[in-house]
Amino acid sequence: MIEKFENLTVPGPTITPITKPFWDAVARKEFILQKCCECGEWVFYPRSHCPHCWSDQLEWKPASGEGTLKTWSIVHRPGHPGWAEVTPYVLGIVELEEGPSMLTHLLVDSDQKLKIGQPLKVKYIKCNDVWLPFFESKE
Ligand SMILES: [Zn+2]
Repeated sequence: MIEKFENLTVPGPTITPITKPFWDAVARKEFILQKCCECGEWVFYPRSHCPHCWSDQLEWKPASGEGTLKTWSIVHRPGHPGWAEVTPYVLGIVELEEGPSMLTHLLVDSDQKLKIGQPLKVKYIKCNDVWLPFFESKE
């Protein structure tokens, strides 16, 4: 399963000064999220301001890398030709344990039975030279 993703030549994430800490952590196989110093809410995707209280006091904190499956879609026609050789693949929205949701690849077969609320955990895969966070079943 992992092997089919490792040799892909796919475009990496667009890294900005705001998102760089997240992607640097992924490359170290660490899962971090922003947390608001004012209201205490966790934030994902990375931003300059808290979407809950508009504070600009966001700190990067270690996070669990675990969550549950909120929904998913099986992709047969990829948005970029680099992903074509691994179709069909599964994209999911994971509700992270800390609260925010994250769109991500699911490390499952496209015909595997998936369930809303299914426990998932992060799994890091280096696609060509870019480390990406996938999620796999926790059990
Ligand atoms: Zn806040």
